[in-house]
Amino acid sequence: MARYTDAVCKLCRREGQKLFLKGERCYTGKCAIDRRSYAPGQHGQARNKKASEYGRQLRTKQQARRYYGVLEGQFRHYFEMAQKMPGAAGENLLTLLESRLDNVIYRLGLASSRAQARQLVTQKHFSVNGRTVNIPSFLVKPGMVVAVRERSRSLDCFKAIVEANSARPVVKWLEMDREKMEGKVIALAKREDVDLPIEETLIVELYSK
Ligand code: SF4
Repeated sequence: MARYTDAVCKLCRREGQKLFLKGERCYTGKCAIDRRSYAPGQHGQARNKKASEYGRQLRTKQQARRYYGVLEGQFRHYFEMAQKMPGAAGENLLTLLESRLDNVIYRLGLASSRAQARQLVTQKHFSVNGRTVNIPSFLVKPGMVVAVRERSRSLDCFKAIVEANSARPVVKWLEMDREKMEGKVIALAKREDVDLPIEETLIVELYSK
């Protein structure tokens, strides 16, 4: 599976905002964007041009892709799926991205970042409705139960993750049982449930050209 392997903090600095790609570090004073809030590279501090309409659309799409850790081809595939669903394509796109198993695990506080969730899923630490799933892009549906597998629950790393993320509120479309290390999908995420500063209509405009 292809993935981005460069220093992830550069992505936040490029987008000019926190993408929360490094787990707990993102919430501390060590966050790179708090210390150097300009774009990376030799001319990073000099970049101050007003973005064109196309530039804004492109940056918004890149931000959304990077929040969820999705590569371009897969992101476009989600957009095509979103267009075929009833309702607004941009909102459907966010619903699909939120429904990814790696995102759900992060939202439940069973991983400190989506990247960590992806890694833990591929290492077969999670089940959905009692069956092991090792595909981070698996799309959950209402009623499904996502859980840390029984044999993994006693691992120190999971105890530490649950402890570290216990203060992070769980989104209202998910229900979490921290004792059992499992969560239930109550409903699909709606636009108002997504707390990310993404102007999804710009993505629709970009892909509709
Ligand atoms: Fe982004 Fe987190 Fe790095 Fe801060 S610490 S720049 S939020 S990845």
